[in-house]
Amino acid sequence: MNCQRYARFLKITIVVTALFAFLLVSISQTVEASNTPKYVFYFIGDGMGVAQRQAAEYFKQAKEDNPTSKLLMNTFPVAGLITTHSANETLITDSAAAGTALATGHKTLNGMLAKLPDGKAVKTLVEAAAEKGLATGMVTTTRLTHATPAAFISHNTSRHNEHEIAADLADSGVNFLAGGGYGYFVPKNDRLESNRNDDRNLLEVFYRKKYNVFITEKEIATFKKFQPKGPQKVMACFTPSHLPYEFDRVNDKRLLPLPSLAEITEKGIEVLSQYPKGFFMMVEGGRIDQAGHLNDALRSCEEVLAFDQAIAKAYEFYKKYPKETLILVLADHESGGMTLGYGTKDFLKVKNLLDNQVPKNKLKRYNHDRAAYFNYLSQEVGLGNLLDDERSIIERSIIERAMDVVEKNGDQEKIYVAIKNVLSNRAGIAWTTQNHTGACVPISAIGVGAEKFGGFQDNTEIAKTLAALLNLELNV
Ligand SMILES: [Zn+2]
Repeated sequence: MNCQRYARFLKITIVVTALFAFLLVSISQTVEASNTPKYVFYFIGDGMGVAQRQAAEYFKQAKEDNPTSKLLMNTFPVAGLITTHSANETLITDSAAAGTALATGHKTLNGMLAKLPDGKAVKTLVEAAAEKGLATGMVTTTRLTHATPAAFISHNTSRHNEHEIAADLADSGVNFLAGGGYGYFVPKNDRLESNRNDDRNLLEVFYRKKYNVFITEKEIATFKKFQPKGPQKVMACFTPSHLPYEFDRVNDKRLLPLPSLAEITEKGIEVLSQYPKGFFMMVEGGRIDQAGHLNDALRSCEEVLAFDQAIAKAYEFYKKYPKETLILVLADHESGGMTLGYGTKDFLKVKNLLDNQVPKNKLKRYNHDRAAYFNYLSQEVGLGNLLDDERSIIERSIIERAMDVVEKNGDQEKIYVAIKNVLSNRAGIAWTTQNHTGACVPISAIGVGAEKFGGFQDNTEIAKTLAALLNLELNV
């Protein structure tokens, strides 16, 4: 090979090698990019154990008269179980400690928010996502200041410091905030119902920070019509405390203008997808838990169905961007010890839950006349032909209520819970407690990186895996 030809050969070799190297780098970058979701949905069903999910699926089949109908979340390709215990010796978590585990990857004591048992604050996924330039969203059916959303944004030794949590939310910079509980954002003695004990007006903070603010039921229509033009922030809070149970929202005309969790989630997607770098959105079905505390199987099932419909909105988005979206559906703990099957009755007829619907706020107070009260339950609540064991469940609650001198405001609740137990039992559903249980809870996943969330894991692993997947830094 002469000198000239050799030089040409060398040139070609260099060009080909450079081209090959460029291609390799591009491919590896593409692979890396496709492993990191741009849009992440973190759906938390508060108190949604395996029984709650399964009962809701059977309930859906009964309502639709279609034995093959499924919850969307139950069709996702990846499934697993997660343990939920907190740092307490009792092994049973509350929503603050469980929310902290799911938000930060750390165990803490019940009641604490995004802080370790020694009081040290730990970074949350929402904070880490914002640092990385992702837009953030938090949606719930409870008060925005309630434990689960609070664990993603507030660092507090007590979930009960909702005045402080509200201030943290106002300072958080979260791009889309929607749920209930404006009472903690308006000053005491305001024309709006307030839960604050000071004169701070946190709504003004949101206005100052250029949020589009939708407060009270008067602004539901404008919220529904709101079309974001470019990246915009939204704070929407329609009720002084929690949003109503889905069952009540749909059946009480006065409540129906309130948006469903699905509608709020859809609006959140519209708002957050305007941000160019992607988003992290936490959506909580917060009242599945509260239905569990009340042993109310009907409301539990309806809450899970409403939650599933919200997941459907994320799934529609996923179908448009399947290579960039991850949807996780999980729970913080189980509530109520719900079990499918009761006594010696070998049946499960969840459709029976529709036969009798007792509105809690309309249940008459017990007036110390037992016969009159059972007559009332029979004539006006539709609880005629009580079986002996059903009658004794209600009688026991009346006795417990009479003996209970501590629980002043909850006394009526005992009778309500007894009635809900009778109605649950008629459907073949039973409850073991009015509190949380230590049972593990299901997780389902679809999309980019979903496979990492299958199997049997601890709740702290979920946040750590998610952070690693998104290249976020938590303090772990
Ligand atoms: Zn709870």
